[in-house]
Amino acid sequence: MPNPSSFPPVYDDEAQKASENLRRALPLLNKHKTPVNPVNYAVWYEYVSGDNQELANVIDNRLSKNQPITAEVTQSLYEKYVLMGMPERLEKTNTGLKIVVDNTLVNITKAESTTDNMLINLSDSQKALESCNSTEELKDLIGTIISNTQIMAESGNELKQELVHSSQEISDLKKELEVVKKLAETDALTGLLNRGTFNNELTDLCRQTAVEAALVMFDLDHFKKINDTFGHLLGDKVIQFFASLLQKHAGDEHLAIRYGGEEMAMIMLDISQREALKIADAIRSSFANSRLKKKGSEDSIGQVTVSVGLTMLRSTDTPQELIERADAALYLSKQNGRNRISVR
Ligand code: GH3
Ligand code: MG
Ligand code: MG
Repeated sequence: MPNPSSFPPVYDDEAQKASENLRRALPLLNKHKTPVNPVNYAVWYEYVSGDNQELANVIDNRLSKNQPITAEVTQSLYEKYVLMGMPERLEKTNTGLKIVVDNTLVNITKAESTTDNMLINLSDSQKALESCNSTEELKDLIGTIISNTQIMAESGNELKQELVHSSQEISDLKKELEVVKKLAETDALTGLLNRGTFNNELTDLCRQTAVEAALVMFDLDHFKKINDTFGHLLGDKVIQFFASLLQKHAGDEHLAIRYGGEEMAMIMLDISQREALKIADAIRSSFANSRLKKKGSEDSIGQVTVSVGLTMLRSTDTPQELIERADAALYLSKQNGRNRISVR
Protein backbone atom coordinates (compact mmCIF):
# COMPACT_ATOMS: atom_id res chain seq x y z
CA MET A 1 0.00 0.00 0.00
CA PRO A 2 0.64 2.78 1.76
CA ASN A 3 -2.95 2.65 2.72
CA PRO A 4 -3.98 4.78 4.41
CA SER A 5 -1.45 7.32 3.19
CA SER A 6 1.34 7.99 5.63
CA PHE A 7 4.80 9.46 5.57
CA PRO A 8 7.07 7.61 5.41
CA PRO A 9 4.95 5.15 3.41
CA VAL A 10 3.96 1.93 5.21
CA TYR A 11 3.45 -1.13 3.00
CA ASP A 12 1.65 -3.95 4.70
CA ASP A 13 0.21 -6.02 1.86
CA GLU A 14 0.38 -9.69 2.46
CA ALA A 15 2.92 -11.65 0.41
CA GLN A 16 0.32 -12.91 -2.03
CA LYS A 17 -1.18 -9.48 -2.76
CA ALA A 18 2.31 -7.97 -2.99
CA SER A 19 3.34 -10.64 -5.53
CA GLU A 20 0.20 -9.99 -7.51
CA ASN A 21 1.00 -6.27 -7.53
CA LEU A 22 4.49 -7.13 -8.75
CA ARG A 23 3.06 -9.26 -11.56
CA ARG A 24 0.82 -6.41 -12.65
CA ALA A 25 3.34 -3.59 -12.18
CA LEU A 26 6.22 -5.12 -14.15
CA PRO A 27 4.51 -5.09 -17.55
CA LEU A 28 3.59 -1.44 -16.98
CA LEU A 29 7.20 -0.55 -16.17
CA ASN A 30 8.22 -2.26 -19.43
CA LYS A 31 5.43 -0.76 -21.47
CA HIS A 32 6.27 2.79 -20.41
CA LYS A 33 10.00 2.09 -20.67
CA THR A 34 10.64 3.35 -17.14
CA PRO A 35 13.65 1.55 -15.63
CA VAL A 36 12.87 -0.83 -12.78
CA ASN A 37 14.22 1.29 -9.95
CA PRO A 38 12.60 1.80 -6.51
CA VAL A 39 10.94 5.10 -7.47
CA ASN A 40 9.34 3.84 -10.69
CA TYR A 41 8.39 0.58 -9.04
CA ALA A 42 6.72 2.35 -6.10
CA VAL A 43 4.62 4.44 -8.50
CA TRP A 44 3.43 1.51 -10.61
CA TYR A 45 3.03 -0.71 -7.55
CA GLU A 46 0.71 1.83 -5.95
CA TYR A 47 -1.08 2.33 -9.25
CA VAL A 48 -1.97 -1.36 -9.62
CA SER A 49 -2.69 -1.85 -5.91
CA GLY A 50 -5.76 0.36 -6.25
CA ASP A 51 -5.00 1.91 -2.87
CA ASN A 52 -3.74 5.27 -4.09
CA GLN A 53 -6.73 6.75 -5.84
CA GLU A 54 -5.28 10.22 -6.41
CA LEU A 55 -2.17 8.81 -8.06
CA ALA A 56 -4.26 6.46 -10.21
CA ASN A 57 -6.48 9.35 -11.35
CA VAL A 58 -3.49 11.41 -12.51
CA ILE A 59 -1.97 8.47 -14.38
CA ASP A 60 -5.28 7.46 -15.98
CA ASN A 61 -5.83 11.05 -17.01
CA ARG A 62 -2.41 11.20 -18.70
CA LEU A 63 -2.94 7.86 -20.40
CA SER A 64 -6.33 8.90 -21.72
CA LYS A 65 -4.66 11.89 -23.38
CA ASN A 66 -1.83 9.70 -24.72
CA GLN A 67 0.69 11.64 -22.66
CA PRO A 68 3.80 9.54 -21.94
CA ILE A 69 4.69 8.43 -18.43
CA THR A 70 8.41 9.06 -18.52
CA ALA A 71 10.88 8.57 -15.67
CA GLU A 72 10.62 12.32 -15.04
CA VAL A 73 6.87 12.05 -14.67
CA THR A 74 7.11 9.08 -12.30
CA GLN A 75 9.69 10.97 -10.22
CA SER A 76 7.32 13.88 -9.73
CA LEU A 77 4.34 11.57 -9.11
CA TYR A 78 6.45 9.72 -6.54
CA GLU A 79 7.27 12.90 -4.67
CA LYS A 80 3.74 14.24 -4.77
CA TYR A 81 1.56 11.15 -4.30
CA VAL A 82 3.80 8.57 -2.63
CA LEU A 83 5.81 10.85 -0.36
CA MET A 84 2.83 13.26 -0.15
CA GLY A 85 5.06 16.25 -0.94
CA MET A 86 6.59 15.90 2.54
CA PRO A 87 10.31 16.28 1.70
CA GLU A 88 9.57 19.51 -0.19
CA ARG A 89 7.44 20.95 2.59
CA LEU A 90 9.97 20.02 5.26
CA GLU A 91 12.76 21.50 3.15
CA LYS A 92 10.76 24.74 2.81
CA THR A 93 10.17 25.15 6.55
CA ASN A 94 13.78 24.21 7.19
CA THR A 95 15.05 26.85 4.76
CA GLY A 96 12.58 29.39 6.18
CA LEU A 97 13.84 28.75 9.69
CA LYS A 98 17.46 29.04 8.59
CA ILE A 99 16.78 32.42 6.93
CA VAL A 100 15.06 33.77 10.05
CA VAL A 101 17.91 32.63 12.31
CA ASP A 102 20.55 34.05 9.93
CA ASN A 103 18.71 37.40 9.70
CA THR A 104 18.35 37.59 13.45
CA LEU A 105 22.07 36.94 13.92
CA VAL A 106 22.93 39.64 11.34
CA ASN A 107 20.65 42.12 13.13
CA ILE A 108 22.08 41.32 16.55
CA THR A 109 25.63 41.69 15.22
CA LYS A 110 24.68 45.03 13.64
CA ALA A 111 23.21 46.30 16.91
CA GLU A 112 26.27 45.04 18.78
CA SER A 113 28.64 46.92 16.52
CA THR A 114 26.56 50.12 16.85
CA THR A 115 26.70 49.76 20.63
CA ASP A 116 30.49 49.15 20.53
CA ASN A 117 31.04 52.26 18.42
CA MET A 118 28.87 54.32 20.70
CA LEU A 119 30.73 53.07 23.76
CA ILE A 120 34.02 54.14 22.18
CA ASN A 121 32.50 57.55 21.44
CA LEU A 122 31.20 57.85 24.99
CA SER A 123 34.55 56.92 26.43
CA ASP A 124 36.15 59.62 24.19
CA SER A 125 33.58 62.08 25.51
CA GLN A 126 34.39 61.07 29.07
CA LYS A 127 38.09 61.80 28.47
CA ALA A 128 37.21 65.12 26.82
CA LEU A 129 35.02 66.00 29.82
CA GLU A 130 37.98 65.62 32.17
CA SER A 131 39.98 68.25 30.27
CA CYS A 132 37.04 70.48 29.41
CA ASN A 133 37.33 74.06 30.67
CA SER A 134 34.75 76.15 28.83
CA THR A 135 30.95 76.13 28.82
CA GLU A 136 30.97 76.12 24.97
CA GLU A 137 33.08 72.99 24.95
CA LEU A 138 30.84 71.45 27.61
CA LYS A 139 27.74 72.23 25.55
CA ASP A 140 29.27 70.57 22.47
CA LEU A 141 30.24 67.53 24.50
CA ILE A 142 26.77 67.14 25.98
CA GLY A 143 25.36 67.49 22.44
CA THR A 144 27.62 64.64 21.25
CA ILE A 145 26.69 62.46 24.24
CA ILE A 146 22.97 63.04 23.63
CA SER A 147 23.20 62.23 19.94
CA ASN A 148 25.23 59.07 20.69
CA THR A 149 22.65 57.98 23.21
CA GLN A 150 19.91 58.62 20.64
CA ILE A 151 21.68 56.51 18.02
CA MET A 152 22.00 53.73 20.58
CA ALA A 153 18.34 53.97 21.52
CA GLU A 154 17.32 53.90 17.83
CA SER A 155 19.50 50.92 17.15
CA GLY A 156 17.95 49.18 20.16
CA ASN A 157 14.48 49.98 18.82
CA GLU A 158 15.32 48.68 15.36
CA LEU A 159 16.64 45.47 16.85
CA LYS A 160 13.50 45.14 18.94
CA GLN A 161 11.28 45.55 15.88
CA GLU A 162 13.32 43.10 13.88
CA LEU A 163 13.14 40.59 16.71
CA VAL A 164 9.35 41.01 16.88
CA HIS A 165 9.25 40.36 13.11
CA SER A 166 11.49 37.27 13.44
CA SER A 167 9.41 35.93 16.26
CA GLN A 168 6.28 36.29 14.09
CA GLU A 169 8.01 34.42 11.26
CA ILE A 170 9.13 31.69 13.63
CA SER A 171 5.60 31.34 14.92
CA ASP A 172 4.30 31.04 11.30
CA LEU A 173 6.90 28.40 10.56
CA LYS A 174 5.96 26.56 13.72
CA LYS A 175 2.34 26.48 12.56
CA GLU A 176 3.42 25.19 9.13
CA LEU A 177 5.49 22.47 10.83
CA GLU A 178 2.48 21.49 12.91
CA VAL A 179 0.40 21.19 9.70
CA VAL A 180 3.10 19.06 8.07
CA LYS A 181 3.35 16.90 11.19
CA LYS A 182 -0.41 16.43 11.32
CA LEU A 183 -0.51 15.61 7.61
CA ALA A 184 2.15 12.98 8.12
CA GLU A 185 0.26 11.43 11.02
CA THR A 186 -3.24 11.36 9.64
CA ASP A 187 -5.12 9.66 6.86
CA ALA A 188 -6.32 12.00 4.12
CA LEU A 189 -9.77 10.47 3.54
CA THR A 190 -10.91 10.26 7.16
CA GLY A 191 -8.63 12.48 9.21
CA LEU A 192 -8.04 9.54 11.57
CA LEU A 193 -4.50 8.62 12.61
CA ASN A 194 -2.79 6.59 9.90
CA ARG A 195 -1.05 3.26 9.92
CA GLY A 196 2.42 4.70 10.53
CA THR A 197 1.21 6.51 13.65
CA PHE A 198 -0.65 3.39 14.77
CA ASN A 199 2.58 1.36 14.59
CA ASN A 200 4.44 3.97 16.65
CA GLU A 201 1.67 4.18 19.24
CA LEU A 202 1.51 0.39 19.62
CA THR A 203 5.28 0.19 20.05
CA ASP A 204 5.09 2.82 22.79
CA LEU A 205 2.13 1.09 24.40
CA CYS A 206 3.85 -2.31 24.52
CA ARG A 207 6.88 -0.76 26.22
CA GLN A 208 4.76 0.46 29.10
CA THR A 209 4.12 -1.78 32.04
CA ALA A 210 1.08 -1.67 34.27
CA VAL A 211 -1.18 0.10 31.82
CA GLU A 212 -4.70 -1.12 31.15
CA ALA A 213 -5.42 -0.75 27.45
CA ALA A 214 -7.55 -2.36 24.76
CA LEU A 215 -6.98 -2.77 21.05
CA VAL A 216 -10.16 -2.92 19.01
CA MET A 217 -10.26 -3.72 15.30
CA PHE A 218 -13.23 -2.86 13.10
CA ASP A 219 -13.86 -4.19 9.58
CA LEU A 220 -16.89 -3.04 7.61
CA ASP A 221 -19.02 -5.99 6.49
CA HIS A 222 -19.45 -6.95 2.83
CA PHE A 223 -17.91 -3.69 1.81
CA LYS A 224 -16.98 -4.88 -1.63
CA LYS A 225 -20.68 -5.26 -2.31
CA ILE A 226 -21.37 -1.66 -1.24
CA ASN A 227 -18.75 -0.45 -3.71
CA ASP A 228 -20.06 -2.72 -6.45
CA THR A 229 -23.68 -1.68 -5.90
CA PHE A 230 -23.36 2.04 -5.17
CA GLY A 231 -19.92 2.96 -6.51
CA HIS A 232 -16.57 3.71 -4.97
CA LEU A 233 -17.42 7.33 -4.13
CA LEU A 234 -20.33 6.33 -1.96
CA GLY A 235 -18.07 3.65 -0.46
CA ASP A 236 -15.68 6.45 0.52
CA LYS A 237 -18.54 8.36 2.16
CA VAL A 238 -19.49 5.30 4.21
CA ILE A 239 -15.87 4.94 5.36
CA GLN A 240 -15.86 8.64 6.31
CA PHE A 241 -19.11 8.26 8.18
CA PHE A 242 -17.84 5.28 10.15
CA ALA A 243 -14.58 7.15 10.86
CA SER A 244 -16.52 10.10 12.28
CA LEU A 245 -18.45 7.74 14.54
CA LEU A 246 -15.19 6.21 15.70
CA GLN A 247 -13.65 9.62 16.36
CA LYS A 248 -16.70 10.73 18.31
CA HIS A 249 -16.47 7.73 20.63
CA ALA A 250 -12.69 8.01 20.93
CA GLY A 251 -12.94 11.59 22.19
CA ASP A 252 -9.67 12.91 23.57
CA GLU A 253 -8.92 9.81 25.64
CA HIS A 254 -8.54 7.14 22.98
CA LEU A 255 -6.92 6.88 19.55
CA ALA A 256 -8.95 6.28 16.39
CA ILE A 257 -6.98 4.88 13.47
CA ARG A 258 -7.55 4.02 9.82
CA TYR A 259 -5.76 0.71 9.66
CA GLY A 260 -6.31 -0.01 5.98
CA GLY A 261 -9.08 0.34 3.35
CA GLU A 262 -12.33 -0.35 5.26
CA GLU A 263 -10.53 -1.47 8.39
CA MET A 264 -10.21 0.81 11.35
CA ALA A 265 -8.91 0.45 14.89
CA MET A 266 -9.09 2.05 18.28
CA ILE A 267 -6.50 2.03 21.02
CA MET A 268 -8.33 2.57 24.29
CA LEU A 269 -6.20 3.75 27.17
CA ASP A 270 -6.69 3.34 30.92
CA ILE A 271 -9.72 1.20 30.43
CA SER A 272 -11.17 -2.05 31.75
CA GLN A 273 -12.34 -4.78 29.36
CA ARG A 274 -15.92 -4.17 30.45
CA GLU A 275 -15.74 -0.47 29.63
CA ALA A 276 -13.91 -1.11 26.33
CA LEU A 277 -16.59 -3.60 25.27
CA LYS A 278 -19.29 -1.09 26.11
CA ILE A 279 -17.76 1.62 23.89
CA ALA A 280 -16.94 -0.75 21.02
CA ASP A 281 -20.43 -2.21 21.03
CA ALA A 282 -21.98 1.26 21.13
CA ILE A 283 -20.03 2.06 17.94
CA ARG A 284 -21.13 -1.20 16.30
CA SER A 285 -24.80 -0.76 17.11
CA SER A 286 -24.85 2.93 16.28
CA PHE A 287 -23.40 2.13 12.83
CA ALA A 288 -25.85 -0.73 12.23
CA ASN A 289 -28.75 1.55 13.15
CA SER A 290 -27.71 4.42 10.90
CA ARG A 291 -29.92 4.93 7.91
CA LEU A 292 -27.34 5.87 5.30
CA LYS A 293 -28.68 7.50 2.17
CA LYS A 294 -27.28 8.40 -1.20
CA LYS A 295 -26.76 12.12 -1.68
CA GLY A 296 -29.94 13.73 -2.98
CA SER A 297 -32.02 10.62 -2.34
CA GLU A 298 -34.42 9.70 0.41
CA ASP A 299 -33.89 5.97 -0.02
CA SER A 300 -31.65 4.19 2.44
CA ILE A 301 -28.79 2.19 0.95
CA GLY A 302 -29.80 -0.59 3.34
CA GLN A 303 -28.17 -1.69 6.55
CA VAL A 304 -24.40 -1.45 6.67
CA THR A 305 -22.66 -3.21 9.53
CA VAL A 306 -19.26 -3.66 11.07
CA SER A 307 -17.56 -6.62 12.72
CA VAL A 308 -15.39 -6.01 15.75
CA GLY A 309 -12.49 -7.77 17.48
CA LEU A 310 -11.30 -6.74 20.93
CA THR A 311 -8.33 -7.72 23.01
CA MET A 312 -6.73 -6.39 26.18
CA LEU A 313 -3.02 -5.54 26.32
CA ARG A 314 -0.94 -8.15 28.16
CA SER A 315 2.31 -7.22 29.88
CA THR A 316 4.39 -9.51 27.64
CA ASP A 317 2.76 -8.39 24.36
CA THR A 318 4.72 -7.29 21.31
CA PRO A 319 2.76 -5.05 18.88
CA GLN A 320 2.57 -8.03 16.53
CA GLU A 321 1.03 -10.30 19.16
CA LEU A 322 -1.47 -7.66 20.18
CA ILE A 323 -2.59 -7.11 16.56
CA GLU A 324 -2.77 -10.83 15.89
CA ARG A 325 -5.11 -11.38 18.86
CA ALA A 326 -7.37 -8.48 17.88
CA ASP A 327 -7.39 -9.82 14.30
CA ALA A 328 -8.26 -13.30 15.50
CA ALA A 329 -11.15 -11.85 17.51
CA LEU A 330 -12.33 -9.96 14.44
CA TYR A 331 -12.13 -13.12 12.36
CA LEU A 332 -14.37 -14.87 14.90
CA SER A 333 -16.95 -12.11 14.53
CA LYS A 334 -16.91 -12.53 10.75
CA GLN A 335 -17.24 -16.30 11.06
CA ASN A 336 -20.11 -16.08 13.50
CA GLY A 337 -22.25 -13.96 11.21
CA ARG A 338 -20.75 -10.41 11.26
CA ASN A 339 -22.22 -7.28 12.95
CA ARG A 340 -20.90 -8.49 16.31
CA ILE A 341 -18.01 -8.26 18.77
CA SER A 342 -15.66 -11.02 19.83
CA VAL A 343 -12.96 -10.95 22.49
CA ARG A 344 -9.65 -12.82 22.54
P1 GH3 B 1 -16.03 -8.82 4.77
O1 GH3 B 1 -17.38 -8.69 5.38
O2 GH3 B 1 -15.55 -10.23 4.80
O3 GH3 B 1 -15.07 -7.89 5.38
O4 GH3 B 1 -16.20 -8.45 3.22
P2 GH3 B 1 -15.59 -7.24 2.47
O5 GH3 B 1 -16.23 -7.18 1.13
O6 GH3 B 1 -15.68 -6.02 3.28
O7 GH3 B 1 -14.07 -7.64 2.44
P3 GH3 B 1 -12.93 -7.48 1.39
O8 GH3 B 1 -11.68 -7.33 2.21
O9 GH3 B 1 -12.96 -8.59 0.42
O10 GH3 B 1 -13.19 -6.15 0.61
C1 GH3 B 1 -12.89 -4.91 1.11
C2 GH3 B 1 -13.27 -3.94 0.07
O11 GH3 B 1 -13.07 -2.62 0.52
C3 GH3 B 1 -12.48 -4.08 -1.21
C4 GH3 B 1 -12.01 -2.69 -1.54
O12 GH3 B 1 -12.37 -2.35 -2.87
C5 GH3 B 1 -12.78 -1.82 -0.60
N1 GH3 B 1 -12.01 -0.66 -0.21
C6 GH3 B 1 -10.78 -0.65 0.37
N2 GH3 B 1 -10.37 0.62 0.57
C7 GH3 B 1 -11.35 1.43 0.09
C8 GH3 B 1 -11.51 2.83 0.00
O13 GH3 B 1 -10.65 3.64 0.41
N3 GH3 B 1 -12.66 3.31 -0.55
C9 GH3 B 1 -13.63 2.47 -0.99
N4 GH3 B 1 -14.73 2.99 -1.50
N5 GH3 B 1 -13.50 1.14 -0.94
C10 GH3 B 1 -12.39 0.62 -0.40
MG1 MG C 1 -11.26 -5.93 5.14
MG1 MG D 1 -14.72 -5.84 5.16
